[in-house]
Amino acid sequence: MENRKVRVRFAPSPTGPLHMGGVRTALYNYLFAKKHGGDFILRIEDTDQTRYVPGAEEYITEALEWCGMELNEGPKTGGEYGPYRQSERKESYREFAEQLIASGHAYYAFDTPEELDEMRDRLKKAKVAAPQYNAVTRETMKNSLTLSEDEVKRRLDSGEAYVIRIKIPRKEEVRFHDVIRGWVVVHSSQMDDKVLFKSDGMPTYHLANVVDDYKMKITHVIRGEEWLPSAPLHVLLYRYLGWEEVMPVFAHLPLILKPDGNGKLSKRDGDRLGFPVFPLNWKDPNTGEESQGYRERGYFPEAFTNMLAMLGWNPGTNQEIFSLEELVEAFTLERVGKSGAKFDPEKAKWYNQQYLRSYDDAALAEIFQVTLKEKGIEASDEHVAKVCALIKEKTQFTSEFWDFGYYFFLKPESFDEKVVEKRWNENAAKFFPALADALESLHDWKAESIEATFKSTAESLEINPGHVMQLFRVLLSGQGGGPVLFEMTELLGQEEVVERLREGVAKLK
Ligand code: GLU
Repeated sequence: MENRKVRVRFAPSPTGPLHMGGVRTALYNYLFAKKHGGDFILRIEDTDQTRYVPGAEEYITEALEWCGMELNEGPKTGGEYGPYRQSERKESYREFAEQLIASGHAYYAFDTPEELDEMRDRLKKAKVAAPQYNAVTRETMKNSLTLSEDEVKRRLDSGEAYVIRIKIPRKEEVRFHDVIRGWVVVHSSQMDDKVLFKSDGMPTYHLANVVDDYKMKITHVIRGEEWLPSAPLHVLLYRYLGWEEVMPVFAHLPLILKPDGNGKLSKRDGDRLGFPVFPLNWKDPNTGEESQGYRERGYFPEAFTNMLAMLGWNPGTNQEIFSLEELVEAFTLERVGKSGAKFDPEKAKWYNQQYLRSYDDAALAEIFQVTLKEKGIEASDEHVAKVCALIKEKTQFTSEFWDFGYYFFLKPESFDEKVVEKRWNENAAKFFPALADALESLHDWKAESIEATFKSTAESLEINPGHVMQLFRVLLSGQGGGPVLFEMTELLGQEEVVERLREGVAKLK
């Protein structure tokens, strides 16, 4: 075990878009693999064809790509241990189900759905809290443990539908070590005889998952807490199949919790509180319902992955900003917490803002130029970069740039009415024409001289500069708030500023 190359897999079922919890599972797998120079594998677990959703696999692949998690192996990437879709490995599971039957660890069961219902009803009446097909009840059911060998053969030969169930021992402790949770001990009397294989030739999740992890030489199973109850069963499968020596190390990740209250974060919480729960936009092919993703909401992938990494893991220091490479360096499973991590939508925005500020102005300009072009505006990269430098301090997303800074490219369409109502008066009507004249003849168009001119004009008219300051901003930008005023004025340009002041005064008079 010690010398095996680290190999981890992210094994989603293509039943819909990836939830951010799923992305975090993938991320922890990725970080762990890269930290140990290992392989990160994508395996699509599509044995349950009834839950298959078209487009889900493509979505998953695209989401991983957007986050920067490069795969070593996967359905599209290929690799030595393929195919990487379980539906394409269908033929490889039966022999193991049969091996388990031969060694006495599994059996055929022929019970019809009605008979199973009957059994449950009977147990409920007898006040059994969770009726199960288990070491006790299997004695009363139609299976190869209760039927004669001949009868079993007759049923199999006649093509009767069956399932293969694991034979859970009656009284045994199943224990295994989980990196995050420590020793986990489950008594076999709490376990049921799960179906491993069906007569349609399809394995269930449990068998397929264990067989593939074995065949793909997976060394660590890092997955969500909801799979913890299945782990004892998987441990028994490893033992009964004779693979205990190479059983992977388990790590079950804590849940991501709702921002308010308790419980697992769901899509409904996102709808209710106004944040995405999916990495990318998703349109449900059945209902047509559309959900917004982090990407389309304007998040940087680095901000999204950084934020996700911190939901359940901590570096043991106060550092909050980590690039993907830094996360790889710092990540350990031992520092993943046991208890759920509350999702904080404000913190998610904060992360984006930190990345936005750290981007250099030219890179932001490149992003903003896309919007500007869509709006039919032509501006030099240099100018747009200067605009970005000013507005990035006040925004959290590049998608806000236009609303926040459109007036650098177009004259304001309207003025903030509240400010006008409060501040426009006779003094203002005197001040702004004078200011326009003074600024028009200013030789040195720099923020400091603009500010000095502003103040001296106010003083000469005996007007408190504080009373006309916000109006000045509104006449130039339409908005009551924004970036540093005199730098914004400088960037707008002398001619434009003078013109806007004169036009504004004419409108307000
Ligand atoms: N197919 C399972 C899922 O959808 C994988 C669980 C596991 O990683 O073992 O989450």
